This record gives sequence, structure tokens and C-alpha cells, in this order.
Amino acid sequence: MIANYGFKDGSGNWYITIDTDKCNGCGKCAVVCPEKILEVGQDEIDIFREEPVALVKQEECKKVRYRCAPCRPGYGETLAPCVAACERNAISHSDGWEKVYQGFEFKPPTSHLQQENLMTREEELRKQGWEKRFIMDEPRLSEMAEQYRELDFEVLLEPVDTSSEECITCMKDHHFRQRYKTIYTRKKNQ
Ligand code: SF4
Ligand code: SF4
Repeated sequence: MIANYGFKDGSGNWYITIDTDKCNGCGKCAVVCPEKILEVGQDEIDIFREEPVALVKQEECKKVRYRCAPCRPGYGETLAPCVAACERNAISHSDGWEKVYQGFEFKPPTSHLQQENLMTREEELRKQGWEKRFIMDEPRLSEMAEQYRELDFEVLLEPVDTSSEECITCMKDHHFRQRYKTIYTRKKNQ
């Protein structure tokens, strides 16, 4: 049987889906889950089944969207850890995140002015018509990027340019900085 958790995102898929017929209850997905929202326990869908299955902890079911945010591609992962750990292909995660990130490039400096530190990345982008919007992390990052796209904007996600920010105390931590991206937008055909 198929157990769905969370809700359908923009891609039409559920956040987490577990095929309980394939799941053997090994618990590998629960071990690697950084948010510890998975566990192995009694199958709540098929009450006649005796073998344990993977499931999302009940108290976490309404928070899946937020809890799974650290595993989004923007954080450097290509596959959610739970999915990668499952040898039986029993657990899957919505690919809506990947669709949002498709086409986004983290572009290297392009002008000699920036390469020679005569111009910040932000200044360079402004010259190219990009408007800096804000810095945020998931899940709002993907949502905002998608909304701008729907409004017919080009969207560029950039690593946080600490040379342009006034307060960078929290950005000194590499892992923390990796989580956040700056959203730039530009009207199409500009
Ligand atoms: S890793 Fe796969 S088979 Fe093992 S408990 Fe998790 S979903 Fe089931
Ligand atoms: S996507 Fe990440 S946080 Fe969500 S269940 Fe899988 S491993 Fe855990």
C-alpha cells in the first residue's frame, strides 16, 4: 500500500510517499534522516500487517514541508538522504524542489571588474538589470522563486555575497551560509 505524508506540492506529488509493500522495516531511512522525523513502527494503513514499516512520526506529519527543507537540492544534496538510503526503493520524495531549482545557475564572476574586486557581485548583477529581492532559506526560497516565475520574471539564485551585506555574523558559518540564497529577479526580455 502507498502511504502519503505531508501534502502535494507544486509538482503534484506528495512530500513523502512510502510503498509499504516494498518496505522491509530496515530503518536505514530513519537513521540518516537529519530531522529525525522518520521511524519504524506498526503499519497504520494495513492493521493486519505484523511486520513494522517506515513511517513519518505522527507529531511530525503536519510539519513535513518544513522539516524536510534541509534536504532540498539548494543545500547541496542531489537526493534526499532517506531516498538515497533505501535499497528497496520504497520511499520517495516530491521532486517539486528540483523543478524549482532547474535552470538556476550559480554563476561565477563574469566581468574583469569583479574578478579584480573592483565591483561586488551585487553591483555587477544590477548592471545586468537584476534586482536584488531578499535572502532566505527553504522552504520559502523555492516558493518565492516559483511565484516570481509565475509573474513572468527571470529568477536568479545566488550564494550570499558577504561583501555586500551589512551584517554577516551568522553567515560566517559555512553550513549556515550554504542554506541561504539571494533571490534576484529581472523582467523577461529585459
Ligand atoms: S530504508 Fe526503505 S526499506 Fe528500509 S525502512 Fe526505510 S523505507 Fe523501508
Ligand atoms: S527528506 Fe530529509 S528530513 Fe525529510 S524525511 Fe527524508 S531525510 Fe528526513
